[in-house]
Amino acid sequence: MEEIKIKPIQNLHTHTKFCDGLDTPEEIVLFAIEKGFSSIGFSGHSFTHYSKAFAKIGDHTKEYKKCVADLKEKYKGQIEIYLGLEVDMYSNPDMSNYDYLIGSVHYLRDGDKYIDFDKSVDDVENIINDFYGADAIKYAKAYYSALAQLPDYGDFDIIGHFDLITKHCETRKFFDVESKEYLSTALDAMEALRGKIPFFEINTGAMARGYRTTPYPDFLLLKELKRLGFGAVISSDCHNKMKLDYKFDEAAALLKECGFKERYILTKNGFEAVSL
Ligand SMILES: [Zn+2]
Ligand SMILES: [Zn+2]
Repeated sequence: MEEIKIKPIQNLHTHTKFCDGLDTPEEIVLFAIEKGFSSIGFSGHSFTHYSKAFAKIGDHTKEYKKCVADLKEKYKGQIEIYLGLEVDMYSNPDMSNYDYLIGSVHYLRDGDKYIDFDKSVDDVENIINDFYGADAIKYAKAYYSALAQLPDYGDFDIIGHFDLITKHCETRKFFDVESKEYLSTALDAMEALRGKIPFFEINTGAMARGYRTTPYPDFLLLKELKRLGFGAVISSDCHNKMKLDYKFDEAAALLKECGFKERYILTKNGFEAVSL
C-alpha cells in the first residue's frame, strides 16, 4: 500500500450505494481505516425528483442516515465518521441533523426544465446549442449566476466543485478558462459567496475519472479563492473506494503553489485548519 504523505487524511466528499457510488458505507469505512484515515465524511446526493438517476434509485435518505449513524458507533475509537449531504441546489431536502453540508449546482434551470449538464462532452455540446444559442460563455454565465444563489438555498459549509462547468474544457474548448469574460463571471459568483459559505473543495474527482488533468477549481480561480479568504478542503468526490484519496498530495501541492498555508478538516469541534 502506498504511503500517504498528507496527514491527517480525511475525505468529506464520499458517495456510496445509497446514491451513485459503487461501495457500501461500511466497505468505505474499512478501506479508510486500512489506508490510515483518521476520519471520513459521507456526502450522499440529496434526493431530487428531477434527477433521472435518483428518481430511479429512490429516496433512501432515512436508511442512509441510519446506516452512517450505526457505523459511527460500531467503529468508535478506530475512525471518526461524519454524516454529510451533497445538496443539489434546487432539490430542497431536509437539511437537519447533518454534521456538514456541501452545496452543489449540477442542474441549470430553464423555465420548468432542469438541465443536467454533468454529462458527456457531446451531451454538453448539445446543451450549449439547444439552450444557449451555441454560445458557451452564455452557458458558463448561467452556471455561475445559479452558483451565486447557493446561500439562498441552505446553510452550506462547502461549495462543491466550484467550476464544474469546465469539466470537458480540456478535451473540447467550449470556452477559454483564462479569458477575461469567463473569469469575470466566475469572480462575480465568488464575490456573492464570500462570507456566506466559508469553504470550497479542491476536488480530484474528475481527475480520477479521466476528464481532467488538474482538480477543480482551475489554477486561476484557486488564486482568487485564496485572495478572497475562502478556506480549502481537499476531497476526491469519491464514487469508488479505490480512489478515496486520489491525488491528494498533488492537490495539497497545488494549494501551496496558490499561496495557501493550510487546509481545513472537520473535527468534533467543527472545522479546523491544519498546515499544508
Ligand atoms: Zn457533485
Ligand atoms: Zn459528489
